[in-house]
Amino acid sequence: DNVMRLAKASGSFDIGLPGAEYDRVVTRFPPEPSGYLHIGHTKALLLNDYFAKVYGGRLLLRFDDTNPSKEKQEYEESILADCRALGVQPDRIEWTSDYFAVLLEWCERFLRRGQAYVDRTPVEQMREQRLQCIDSAYRNQSVEENLRLWQAMQSGDAAAAGCCVRAKIDMQAKNASLRDPVIYRTAAAAAVTPAETTAATSAAIEPVPVEHHRTGRQYRVYPSYDFACPIVDSLEGVTHALRTSEYQDREAQYRWVCEAAGLRCPTVWTYSRLSFVHTVLSKRKLTWLVAHGYVDGWDDPRMPTVRGVLRRGMQVDALRAFILSQGPSRNITVQQWDKIWTMNKRVIDPIAPRHTAIVRQGHWRLRVRGVVHQDKEQQQHAAGNSVVRHVDGTAAVVRTVIRTVPRHRKNPACGNKALLLADEVLLEPEDAASVAVEEIVTLMDLGNVRVTQVRADERCLEGEYLPEHRDFKRTKKFTWLAAVPDLVPVQLIHYGPLLRKDKLEDGDDIRDHAIPNAESKTVVSALADVNVRLLSADTVIQFERRGYYRCDRAWVRPGTDMEFVDVPDGHVAQT
Ligand code: ATP
Ligand code: MG
Ligand code: MG
Repeated sequence: DNVMRLAKASGSFDIGLPGAEYDRVVTRFPPEPSGYLHIGHTKALLLNDYFAKVYGGRLLLRFDDTNPSKEKQEYEESILADCRALGVQPDRIEWTSDYFAVLLEWCERFLRRGQAYVDRTPVEQMREQRLQCIDSAYRNQSVEENLRLWQAMQSGDAAAAGCCVRAKIDMQAKNASLRDPVIYRTAAAAAVTPAETTAATSAAIEPVPVEHHRTGRQYRVYPSYDFACPIVDSLEGVTHALRTSEYQDREAQYRWVCEAAGLRCPTVWTYSRLSFVHTVLSKRKLTWLVAHGYVDGWDDPRMPTVRGVLRRGMQVDALRAFILSQGPSRNITVQQWDKIWTMNKRVIDPIAPRHTAIVRQGHWRLRVRGVVHQDKEQQQHAAGNSVVRHVDGTAAVVRTVIRTVPRHRKNPACGNKALLLADEVLLEPEDAASVAVEEIVTLMDLGNVRVTQVRADERCLEGEYLPEHRDFKRTKKFTWLAAVPDLVPVQLIHYGPLLRKDKLEDGDDIRDHAIPNAESKTVVSALADVNVRLLSADTVIQFERRGYYRCDRAWVRPGTDMEFVDVPDGHVAQT
């Protein structure tokens, strides 16, 4: 279909899943409900969706809600809404927390079989030991002691303060992820950041059970992602687990958990993380931009969130094609936004209706003799008089004629629009100021006009309509609007990048590189042709000679401007 054609046209396209059988494939998208989905997540979502579809299989959406301190119902709803907006319908929605009881049993089994132990080494020390391949003092604790502490952890007993459960894998492994990873921790430990953990545990405060947004205070212990993910994947029948390449080291650990549990191990398929220039994708940094007013919200068209990019005018087909065109590469490359907006342009150009907008401040007037009277087709069309009020307060009666023209010159399916003709038209300042007396210029969709007078101080031209003069080769092409009172006030909103720097490095502070809200947004007030009143929000159009715009606020009532967000076309460096 369209998506495949676009994807193939844009480069490498060669993806398949190893060992995939038609009808049997089960994939899953496992977001943590701790924030809004961003364009990086769409890579995970759309790849999983793509494979489920091409192999006639199923897609699971699993809320990976193992960290009660960060997760919220509100985010679950936003993730579901974003999936819908991206045209993804998971075959099943599930929660890791639905498996808490099952995971608890698995942990206990691991402890009984000596595949895990309860550790109470302080966090900092544990980190050091893992770096240096040193066994924990508790590694060979008896099964009885492990089970006793495990019970204490579950009941929130003070005796278990600072305890966690670790898988007993291999402290000498070259692959550090196999050096006894944590598989269960207490709510308090799950809730605090590493720096705080030391303070909390050394002070031996009784852990405060954090409320989980679904299971409430039922559990005092929570599984780690590394433990929960392979078990739930396996139990849910996932055949192919897609993971980003920075987890490649953890693939062995994933397999170890399945094998230790005696469960079938899904095939792990690795792909590269998506990132873009001038863009941050970390939840923490995005939250900072919102909280400090660098953008107007999570759905601001400057944001790399799903909501943001859709509001900027990204079409779902283009986004899908872009993701698929990346292929199965494992190299992390920083993408240019141009590439994805160019693909988007291929989607919108053939279907975006054409309209006209002329700046509100500083436009010129062209009084053109003969437009209304000599218009050949005027007999067949509505004609009437309009009262025009000029900016300077004077009013005039203008005779108008309405013609019907296509909304898109190459695509009749876009329908028609009304073209209002009058003896006075508005022109863009740059166009009008470039004209000399006696020059012949072309008014698009109308014809040629010979300019007979230029009065720059009044921003006014006089001219004569030349309906028989059909030579358009050397003439300047102007957009114009009949000077009628019905012109629609619009705001054209243009955006730039949020960061001055291509890429934030590790030591960089976002505060030094973020561009203030007012600097990354420019608003142009303009007047648009009467037809735009009929546009509904979300429609992408082209204002001729300006570019593509997405209707962000449809027409409401006089006195409220319509709003249009500029859609980058990929040619200029854009956010
Ligand atoms: P991670 O846990 O990988 O840091 P995250 O915490 O930002 O991601 P999650 O909600 O856990 O967000 O992510 C859901 C899925 O999206 C995971 O499979 C994750 O690997 C994937 N994902 C997150 N960011 C990106 C990205 N920039 N490119 C590709 N996939 C991503
Ligand atoms: Mg995560
Ligand atoms: Mg992350």
